[in-house]
Amino acid sequence: MNRIALLGLGAIGTPMAHHLAKPEFDLVVWNRTIARATTFASEHVARAVQTPADAARDRDIVITCLPVSRDVESLLDGDDGMLATMPAGSVLVDCTSGDPATSRRMAAKLAERGIGFLDAPVSGGVVGAVQGALTVMVGGDAALLERVRPVLECFGKRIVHCGAVGTGDALKAVNNALLAMHIWGTAEGLVALEKAGVNAEVALDVINASSGRSNASMNLFPERVLTRAFPRTFRLALLDKDVAIAADLAREQKVPSPLLQITSELFRMAHIELGEEADHVEAARVVERMGGAEMRSRSGHVSGDAA
Ligand code: NDP
Repeated sequence: MNRIALLGLGAIGTPMAHHLAKPEFDLVVWNRTIARATTFASEHVARAVQTPADAARDRDIVITCLPVSRDVESLLDGDDGMLATMPAGSVLVDCTSGDPATSRRMAAKLAERGIGFLDAPVSGGVVGAVQGALTVMVGGDAALLERVRPVLECFGKRIVHCGAVGTGDALKAVNNALLAMHIWGTAEGLVALEKAGVNAEVALDVINASSGRSNASMNLFPERVLTRAFPRTFRLALLDKDVAIAADLAREQKVPSPLLQITSELFRMAHIELGEEADHVEAARVVERMGGAEMRSRSGHVSGDAA
């Protein structure tokens, strides 16, 4: 299991590839914008290739990390597609935060050719990816996971088998829907407090020592909102996609889910308003604009880590 391909050198895929670029592995990288792959290969023990078919040729493991499952699915077919070259007995590990139905479809298609599939979305953000400390949520055959585990451990600290194909995607989507709820809810509360005369920093000091705290209140808001830094680490467009997957999941499972459904609508609205490149935390700007107040640090003191 040492011949590896990684496709998708984005914000998460690049640091993942960095951890796989070791002498004990034979790593090839492919990216839609080829220049990113050639730059990566010039700086690491890795080889850049021109097509997904070139990437998958003779590989034991092919790892993908693209925006949505359908992007991965679209790399399977055609003369330049991965199915043209991926050997029987190999495994596609899809680290995209994907959707369960497309993952199941890909797994079935690959199984016809004796190729394994695991959905393996990650959490921990860019910071976790750079540190090689991601959590990896895996759906698929448990024995297959054990075969690829040593490779996943290069970038993952916590690797959790969730169940059948698609369950990693489902869990990741629900986690991110909770993140979205915390961002939106915290923004609503803090904007209302600002207008009522309580500075957001004072409010967070209390909330973060109380039961209303969350990763959003403890890390994202102090570091990114109150500083007005809004660094771009995880696109709002991707969080919108994740919440929509969670909302669909709840509907499919016939679970009454007004909160998930409305959160999905709110993030679709924010995505449309702020565009493709906005960061996920910038959803708070939409709440500020509608509410008519900004959340700012008055002391200049901020703390925490946003992962
Ligand atoms: P980015 O937008 O930074 O990168 C996307 C990557 O996918 C780029 O390499 C891009 O290539 C490539 N790509 C985009 N569309 C296509 C396509 N149609 N066909 C082939 N390649 C394509 O995304 P992230 O790295 O942030 O996210 C990747 C996945 O990881 C997503 O599912 C996201 O939800 C998830 N994730 C992201 C986290 C984060 O903090 N950023 C945290 C946890 C999970 P090109 O260079 O040509 O644009």
